[in-house]
Amino acid sequence: MGEISQCSFCGSPKSEGGLLIAGLDAHICESCIEQAHEIVLEEGRENADSKEEIAKSPKPKEIYDHLNEYVIGQDEAKRHLSVAVYNHYKRVQSGKSDDFEIEKSNVILAGETGTGKTLLARTIAKMLSVPFAIVDATILTQAGYVGEDVESILTRLLQAADYNVKAAEKGIIFIDEIDKIARKSDNPSITRDVSGEGVQQALLKLLEGTKVNVPPKGGRKHPDQKFVEVDTTNILFIAGGAFDGVERHIARRLNTQIVGYGGSILRSDLDPKNFLSAISPQDLKSFGLIPELIGRMPVLTFLEPLSRDSLIKILTQPKNALIKQYKELFSMDDIVFEIETEALEKIADKALEYKLGARGLRSICEAIFTDAMFDLPEKVIVNANYVENKLSKASNLKAA
Ligand code: ADP
Repeated sequence: MGEISQCSFCGSPKSEGGLLIAGLDAHICESCIEQAHEIVLEEGRENADSKEEIAKSPKPKEIYDHLNEYVIGQDEAKRHLSVAVYNHYKRVQSGKSDDFEIEKSNVILAGETGTGKTLLARTIAKMLSVPFAIVDATILTQAGYVGEDVESILTRLLQAADYNVKAAEKGIIFIDEIDKIARKSDNPSITRDVSGEGVQQALLKLLEGTKVNVPPKGGRKHPDQKFVEVDTTNILFIAGGAFDGVERHIARRLNTQIVGYGGSILRSDLDPKNFLSAISPQDLKSFGLIPELIGRMPVLTFLEPLSRDSLIKILTQPKNALIKQYKELFSMDDIVFEIETEALEKIADKALEYKLGARGLRSICEAIFTDAMFDLPEKVIVNANYVENKLSKASNLKAA
């Protein structure tokens, strides 16, 4: 072989000047060495970045503290969620290796309506600045039936991420009313259960992590659109549901335990008003969720029913508490706004009566304060009488 006079990488001839370094079978020129060096540095930086990102991602205690600024009570759910989210992002950053993989920490939140399930999920997404989408499980049906395919969940997330696929792939999806897609009967062969078990089956793949072709505009109305591929591996799913009637399953299970293993401690520890605090994956199965789905949502926690005290705190304490908002609105018109404790108690009692959790507070407050916001007097001093008077006039407020 004659003298090699060109770079084996870029092909530029030796005559162009600069060094040409010889290896066993190849040569490399100065410029390719520099480029290769850059690549090596870049690689190293990326590895360091992922370590740095783990160090940067908020610790469970920080997530918990942040949740405390917006969500009253629900300590157990906050702790579970903080750890689940932290582990989720550790998992995302550690990447996949062939022989070891940290499992996904998708979450199920069981709790009555209006107790803060959506609020918890939304607050976490905001804190992490990741795209967040809420979908209602009841609109989903098995592919091919009237309703929306499960892929529409990802359409929502894509929209929330302004179609930035990379961002969407690290987002959080809140699936509301997961309890409503429970199996309708114990015998699945009786009728086709297209909005129950069928949907649960369809959800499995998404939850576990897969590449899905998503219609970016959603639905079947735009048949010509180009699909976008979304990888759900690093999307965190949080599902919420009231699981009405699950108490029966919990009680039955605990009773059998009591017979079996001196479970009397369990029985006396359990607050009869909050059976959910003892919820376990088995109860979800008895309720009608399929075991595969339960397995893919391994973090199960509960929210407590809101007491009168908690409702009062919700009105006044969180960063964006309703009463703080009204105060701000009035102060913009230089109106003095004061509300007495008794008035707050009355509002909380009304909300309890409506059985809508904290969800009822907003409409109750609107009914109370609309007159003042219309008249704009110099002072708005709200006592129990004021509340009663305004509420007695509000015909649109009805108990649920
Ligand atoms: P759900 O449990 O039905 O998902 P949400 O989280 O949507 O309930 O709650 C409805 C509204 O009630 C929220 O926007 C929030 O203002 C208020 N709320 C409910 N629970 C709490 C809570 N624990 N702390 C503070 N606000 C709450």
